[in-house]
Amino acid sequence: MPVNESLAWLATTPEGDALGKAAAQSVKIVHESRPWWAFPAEPMHWFYSIFGIAPHSFYAAALFLVMAAVAGWLAFRQAGWRAGLAWMTTLTMTLIGGMQAHGWLYTRIPSGIRYEVPAHSTFRLANLHCHTQASGGVLLPADALRWHLRKGFTVVGVTDSNKTYPGLRAQSEAAEQDLGVVVVPGEEYRGTTHLLMFGLKEAIRADQVDIASAMAKAREQGALVIAAHTWTGQQTSKQLLEWGAAGFEACNGPTTVDEATLQLAREHHLALLGSLDFRQGNAPKTATVVPYEANTAEKVLQALREGRCATLYCPEWREDTKFSYWVRLKHNFPGLVRRGGIWLIPGLILWWKFAVLARRYAPCQPRRGLEIILMLAVGGGVLGIWAVWWKYKLGWFPSLELALSLWVVACPLGWYLAGCEWLYGREGRQQAL
Ligand SMILES: [Zn+2]
Repeated sequence: MPVNESLAWLATTPEGDALGKAAAQSVKIVHESRPWWAFPAEPMHWFYSIFGIAPHSFYAAALFLVMAAVAGWLAFRQAGWRAGLAWMTTLTMTLIGGMQAHGWLYTRIPSGIRYEVPAHSTFRLANLHCHTQASGGVLLPADALRWHLRKGFTVVGVTDSNKTYPGLRAQSEAAEQDLGVVVVPGEEYRGTTHLLMFGLKEAIRADQVDIASAMAKAREQGALVIAAHTWTGQQTSKQLLEWGAAGFEACNGPTTVDEATLQLAREHHLALLGSLDFRQGNAPKTATVVPYEANTAEKVLQALREGRCATLYCPEWREDTKFSYWVRLKHNFPGLVRRGGIWLIPGLILWWKFAVLARRYAPCQPRRGLEIILMLAVGGGVLGIWAVWWKYKLGWFPSLELALSLWVVACPLGWYLAGCEWLYGREGRQQAL
């Protein structure tokens, strides 16, 4: 299957056009295969790449809950309420926890798409929309910066939801560790429309300030405001412009803004950003091109103010603002196959063998001690899901690493216990023997 992966750009000024053109002509898209040693995780990668596609992880989680409920119902019919409950909790934990664990793992494993920027370029690649663990991302600030460097980005806007401290932390860590990346500290104001705010003196929270006053406050602080993924917001682009938006996200991942907003940006020479809205993953689908001289946060913001930037994107990956599962699958599937699909086979064999062994050697009689362990494991899994879901809003939830470690222990334990007769039913257990 021939792949036509040329790059294109969007810009609103002659300088922006020149940057976009230079980047589109010289940046190379590189596909890195998944390493062979990740083969045990390959079935999981296929599963989540196919069933985990959703505009929001909430929908994928809902799908997994339905799958778990159906399995629980079948087990209940066959072997009673304890079996039903155990199957439902074990599967919920495995599927939803696995989704999060998968996101974390495939962000960490060096594979996927990366951009190769030639030396002595006139431009830099920037991503000015990045979440860390402080708001639903899977990486800590310094690790998020390293991820971007590996992918070809040398300017990163750290924009956690309604808070500025992760961006400031990223900036100081980049300096301490000499990472060679320009950090632009910011926040994503998540009100009725989401806004990227850079250069704030203090955080502006959506639960305290409505959008019009938030933009006025940001202006008072001398901050730069970019309207993020306007198609999910309630305000019109025109309204946002009147309130002081200095630009729009032209692309958020593969999704591209409507033509009217692009036209408005062109008329007013506004900044057009290609943002990853990075939380996890390994296939960046867009970038913002800024001048090479923009080697400090201030210079990056100045370039954006003057419209000296461009959005880099690949027309073949483009999706419009109305999400379609099938379009996303069509775009992602070739990468799934060509970047290491062969490892699916040994991966499946490994887990099939594991399932057979778990069923054969699981305890025949349910014991009280094991029930307590299962309850603890389920509790840990639920706490982990809670931690991820509520994005550490209250600050006392376990860290993502702890939650994932709990899942890693809880899931195989659940499968092992699923070999019990009160899970399979006496007949199923005897068949396995
Ligand atoms: Zn957002």
